Amino acid sequence: MADLGCCTVLVTGANRGIGLELVRQLAESKHPPSQIFAGCRDPEGPRAKALKELAQKHPKLITIIRLDTSDPASIKESSRVVGSKLANGSLDVLINNAGINGPNTLQETGMKEMMDLYITNVVGPLLMIKDFLPFLQKAATQPRSGARKGPMIINVSSVLGSIEKCPETINIAVMYPYRASKAALNMLTRCMAVEFEKDGIMVTALHPGWVKTELGGKEAPVAVVDSASGMLRVISSLTAKDSGTLLDWEGNSIPC
Ligand code: NDP
Repeated sequence: MADLGCCTVLVTGANRGIGLELVRQLAESKHPPSQIFAGCRDPEGPRAKALKELAQKHPKLITIIRLDTSDPASIKESSRVVGSKLANGSLDVLINNAGINGPNTLQETGMKEMMDLYITNVVGPLLMIKDFLPFLQKAATQPRSGARKGPMIINVSSVLGSIEKCPETINIAVMYPYRASKAALNMLTRCMAVEFEKDGIMVTALHPGWVKTELGGKEAPVAVVDSASGMLRVISSLTAKDSGTLLDWEGNSIPC
């Protein structure tokens, strides 16, 4: 099991799919983080049931945070709440996992579909990083020990956002809004990696594989348990040279 060191972690979109499994594996690991913040847009709704049960099992570890990443006010409020709960004001790992898929073909794609995906998959992560930056910067000033590294931002992206890989992947699905949104997320990753180098904050994009979730569908070859454990292994082994890159859940480099 990957060891992130005694750190503080926030995962967006943590009530199902890959996000929920990341929180589960972090909480149940041999060396769990000191605090896990699990973002969920409707903590009282039926879709939060599994996350609430998990949080009840680990009440000292997991805090559920109301967080809709398509709503700037919700992001701001969540940063205020998390800031008030962080033990020493520092957040070590921000995992921008929340994401949506959209239509496949050009004929099905209109302005609303393009904008919806752009808001959730690109604007959301950007605003998350902006509003949580002070806590990441604070983490950069903390002493490192054991497995604890400098602060990291993980943007959960996709190989479908790789422009270079497009000719190979286009046969899987066209998905104009999804591909364009993840390509933009990869660009944010690259830009922010450069901007935050001086702060000692790493920014890396991760492709979780084609995973059996609501988004990935039943025919996906990778189980969510394997994807999440692979991602955590990759995250725990990241070094400064990985900042600004796109890696997959097995640690392979993907050209952006
Ligand atoms: P799921 O559809 O299973 O889960 C998506 C999660 O994101 C849910 O918790 C959902 O919450 C949340 N979410 C969506 N929109 C928002 C929002 N506006 N605010 C807060 N939370 C939100 O997807 P996966 O777990 O498969 O995907 C996770 C990430 O991995 C995504 O970024 C996706 O693009 C990426 N990915 C997935 C692949 C796959 O094959 N599954 C392949 C490549 C990348 P709610 O229940 O409220 O809707």
